Amino acid sequence: MRTICVKGGRRQEIAVAEDGKLVEYLCDTQSGSAEGICLGRVERVVTGMKAAFVDIGQEKNGFLPLEENTLTGSFAKLLSGDRVLVQIKKAAQGVKGAFLTRDISLCGEYVLFMPMNRHVGVSSRIEDEAIRNGLKQLGREIAQERFGLVLRSSAASADPEEIRRETDMLAEQWHNVEAAAPTAHAPSLIYQPRTLLDSVVDDYRFRGIDAAVTDDPAVARSLEGVCPVRLTQEDPMVSMDLIRHRDKALNRHVWLDSGGTLVIDRCEAMTVIDVNTAKFTGKKNLEETILRLNLEACGEIARQLRLRNLSGIILLDMIDMKDEAHRAQVLERLKECLASDRIKTVVHGFTSLGLIEMTRKKSRQPLADDWTEICPRCHATGRVIKEEHHG
Ligand SMILES: [Zn+2]
Repeated sequence: MRTICVKGGRRQEIAVAEDGKLVEYLCDTQSGSAEGICLGRVERVVTGMKAAFVDIGQEKNGFLPLEENTLTGSFAKLLSGDRVLVQIKKAAQGVKGAFLTRDISLCGEYVLFMPMNRHVGVSSRIEDEAIRNGLKQLGREIAQERFGLVLRSSAASADPEEIRRETDMLAEQWHNVEAAAPTAHAPSLIYQPRTLLDSVVDDYRFRGIDAAVTDDPAVARSLEGVCPVRLTQEDPMVSMDLIRHRDKALNRHVWLDSGGTLVIDRCEAMTVIDVNTAKFTGKKNLEETILRLNLEACGEIARQLRLRNLSGIILLDMIDMKDEAHRAQVLERLKECLASDRIKTVVHGFTSLGLIEMTRKKSRQPLADDWTEICPRCHATGRVIKEEHHG
């Protein structure tokens, strides 16, 4: 039984639960900025207002300022009847039509791709001067004055190759928009960015989605053909107690039903997960007890990898098993448990020290980076200088 919960808003939150257990909790920071690109037709130019009213196929004409900064000169003069490529910056609301711009930007997870200007910038949310300079340099290298680029805050912890890949993908999308515009009917919507929810639904669709719960009527409509949808008044993350389970996944420790624990440490180069037992009583069937606990841990490890969205190299320190057949059984179980993950993990096997080595593909940032920030007092060491050393 798989349920998708969506909390609407500028930062849309998406949770996935399987058999009542939370397995993903995502935050779509782009949901507010990912707006469509339309080929519009100028209805009327009002020089006094320095604006044009553009038919974009909506009930009300959109409002387009005539003068916008582009850093590469100005946009073409507009006359009524002209076809013009515009992006919806603010959706129509009440009596007001949509607010439009010709300074188009395509928003990715790490970058904002701006084909109409050549500005390279870094999100003001990144404060560290050295990181800012490094990202700016990277942005200049990628853009090479061919387009503008803003590195978003998530770029700070991203692999430069990922940032390049994403920029290439956005450039490709822009290329498609440009290619479609000359022959498109005006007014028409040319490009609707894929949202995070779109990709989550696509990824799970063939595995089966049994139900959806949301407080957002637009989301409910978009999921109608996918599964039975329940539209609620209250925040589904609160009413379904998902926030508490999300927050538990921000801790290092995870309790297993049998009394054992997992300790999950995210390090710079890899993530290490340690499996610990509760005290064993007696030597009888010790090997069997260890096997049972390791097998139980596999399910929880797979769930935690998904929920915490950990990626890269992952090392598992299971409880030592002497029996080769037991080890093989644990690897097998681990692969089974990882099968419901929509992100690919490769289990490489045991290292010579008896650790299980695996790699999980990177996608988006870890859960902890969505909801926590580095402690300014200990700088993530979790330790502070002893009082006695403070003079
Ligand atoms: Zn601290």
